[in-house]
Amino acid sequence: MSVSPQDLIRPEVLAMAGYHVPSAAGLVKLDAMENPYPLPPELQRALAERLAAVAINRYPAPSYTRLKALVREKLGVPAGAEVLLGNGSDELITMMSVATAKPGATVVAPAPSFVMYDLSTRLAGATYVPVPLAADLSLDLPAMLAAIERHRPALVWLAYPNNPTGNCFARADVEAILAVAPGLVVLDEAYQPFALDSWMDALPAHDNLVVMRTVSKLGLAGIRIGYMAAAPRWIAEFDKVRPPYNVSVLDEAAAEFALEHLDVLLAQAARLREDRGHLAAALAALPGVAVFPSRANFLLVRVPDSTAVAAGMRERGVLIKDVGRMHPLLAGCLRLTVGTPDENAAMLDALRGALAARAGR
Ligand code: PMP
Repeated sequence: MSVSPQDLIRPEVLAMAGYHVPSAAGLVKLDAMENPYPLPPELQRALAERLAAVAINRYPAPSYTRLKALVREKLGVPAGAEVLLGNGSDELITMMSVATAKPGATVVAPAPSFVMYDLSTRLAGATYVPVPLAADLSLDLPAMLAAIERHRPALVWLAYPNNPTGNCFARADVEAILAVAPGLVVLDEAYQPFALDSWMDALPAHDNLVVMRTVSKLGLAGIRIGYMAAAPRWIAEFDKVRPPYNVSVLDEAAAEFALEHLDVLLAQAARLREDRGHLAAALAALPGVAVFPSRANFLLVRVPDSTAVAAGMRERGVLIKDVGRMHPLLAGCLRLTVGTPDENAAMLDALRGALAARAGR
């Protein structure tokens, strides 16, 4: 008997493109919002020693007590809220999507936003309802409220700051959504170290609020750790769909080590915030480039032809993300990660070169 994927695989999966990650071999990598700074050499050595002592012959203790305590203490989870760890916040998105996907369930999020909300919703078998942002990339609050009223979503996803637009939505708009949403409202604060604004302190006031964060953008994208904080009764349910050993002992030990040295990572984030300002000013000075305000470690810019410019930058050795075809509101847009000063200079050169080549000079 021969069976084909068309016979076996769910139509939603057959229809999916998957999450494409382009190769960055030999390129300046400014496409994925990574922190460009490694740990200082003395901390690298201390980390190596710490990891060498980890019992990799044992399964992780699935309560992750010490790491959760460090997250609470160092990253400001309020008393009364419970914490759940994920293998990156990607896995937390999957867990919340799966746990809430009752037959007929819907999920509302602004568009454009982080693509995994859409992908995870569809994989879980629920219906994704994207609500376009306003032309200035703020929330279209009347449209969001109307969609919430009409679809009664189990989840509302709000990335704060939003990816790929880089802005934080108005707090009053978020409050209005929290007030009417019949389900959970997840504030995804992946870029919080660069925004210095958060909904964590609002947790005690809102039983339907979930705050999700990750250590990825802080400089630990390679160890897959995300966390969410919410009222204990929600965390208890989501914990049931968590694979029991979802965070490896090596990730756990590395994250504990990094949180013990959080000051180093926060100093790197401060540096990136400062350089974001310099980079934005330099980009805005280029003819034909419009820069959107950013609270994240990346900048959204509009250029005459994002596909040609991205290809031209790649030819010049710099990998950035062309988001121009992701959504009509992003036509002509590139997403540029803030890197080291040298990387930023290389990016500016490549952009200048690509723009000039396109203009036929
Ligand atoms: N949320 C947002 C808004 C993101 O942009 C990203 C990554 N690009 C993530 C979550 C996922 O982060 P991670 O899985 O690395 O924790």
